[in-house]
Amino acid sequence: MSGPILGAIADDFTGATDLADQLVTGGMRTVQLIGAAQTALPPDVDAVVIALKTRTIAAADAVAQSLTALELLERAGVRQVLFKYCSTFDSTAAGNIGPVGDALAERLGQAVTVFCPAYPANKRSIYNGYLFVGDMLLSESGMRDHPLTPMRDANLVRVLAAQSRRPVANVGLGIVRRGAAAIAAAFAQFAQDGPSHLIVDVTEDADLRALGEALDGVKLLSGGAGIAIGLPAVYRRHGWLGASTDAVAEPVRAGRAAVIAGSASQATRAQVAAFRAGGAPVFEIGEEQIAQPDVAVSSALTWAAGHRETAVLISATAEPDVVRRNQERFGVAESGERVERILAGVAAGLVAAGVRRLVVAGGETSGAVVGALGATSLRIGPRIEVGVPWTIAQTAEPIGLALKSGNFGGPDFFANALGMTGGP
Ligand code: ADP
Repeated sequence: MSGPILGAIADDFTGATDLADQLVTGGMRTVQLIGAAQTALPPDVDAVVIALKTRTIAAADAVAQSLTALELLERAGVRQVLFKYCSTFDSTAAGNIGPVGDALAERLGQAVTVFCPAYPANKRSIYNGYLFVGDMLLSESGMRDHPLTPMRDANLVRVLAAQSRRPVANVGLGIVRRGAAAIAAAFAQFAQDGPSHLIVDVTEDADLRALGEALDGVKLLSGGAGIAIGLPAVYRRHGWLGASTDAVAEPVRAGRAAVIAGSASQATRAQVAAFRAGGAPVFEIGEEQIAQPDVAVSSALTWAAGHRETAVLISATAEPDVVRRNQERFGVAESGERVERILAGVAAGLVAAGVRRLVVAGGETSGAVVGALGATSLRIGPRIEVGVPWTIAQTAEPIGLALKSGNFGGPDFFANALGMTGGP
């Protein structure tokens, strides 16, 4: 079987990697593309995940970029298309899950489309159309106060209906628990009534496997990374996936290593502290560096050249009051951009100086680093922690990249990631 089976369109960068990690774990050789501007797909892959950055941009732009990605996947001849968003359904009243879902369904001429962000392994479940985070309603969880996409209503039928042109209904757990045939029959019933979007109840992985079976032969589906749990088994049953194929790409195991931390999240602060306590040399990006980004890049690189014997840490990670002070002095957007510019410049300089393995903390920071390295596609390697695999950037020379959303991973994430690939 040649050509990818599944093509995914993800609305953010680290979410795309999370999905790719899930697909590799399910036995699918997976590549992650950065943006939809490419014209050719790499050979020998079972799944392609196109990482867009469309979660919070204007809905019309999100739709246009998603349709461009769809065209690329259609040209590659994928059998199934997955629109991937966050398992907490991160969106605003204007979208972009609804508008993008509408546009993809219309372009593919599909009547009913599943929307299922459930991810039981990460404690995201859906019951009667309501999304729970752990034992809390979405609207009572921390997502209530998200700076960009505050989720104040846990009823996904209502949330999606508010941002979609199509009617939205719920497929209840009672139907899901009767198995794949019952779920498929419910889809067919809805299809008779015209176009609609369906929020499907799921509280366990077994529900996702039944849903995957019910979606056999359905071109478009949408969900969080969890929905991928139910897909590979269907492809394997059709004989589309080689049973003996090792889906996990070989990581970069040799060469100097470095850690770049640009997230101020709690998890990353703990990881920076643990790595420092383990004896790693640390270069801090403080106020003085942010004032002069170009000078900061060259001083960090000069400093790193003096520490070639072990993995160095270049860190902007700071306590909330320090971040606030920087934001007051330089502006919120400007301070973030300057820090990203510094860290991306340092990453590119380190690679030019021979570093071959980079661990990066922070979603936006990861995007900036990948951009600076000029990488347009990543092969997905072994899992470091759930949702965070080693990836291999296809640049002039392969570069190992572990790209971590700020809040992912335990305290020893940096040391563990490097330990898997030959140590610091
Ligand atoms: P996360 O995944 O935790 O959201 P991101 O990298 O996406 O991490 O976002 C963190 C943002 O905070 C980036 O724009 C980064 O440049 C910025 N930032 C990091 N450290 C500082 C700091 N010390 N002062 C100001 N901004 C910072």
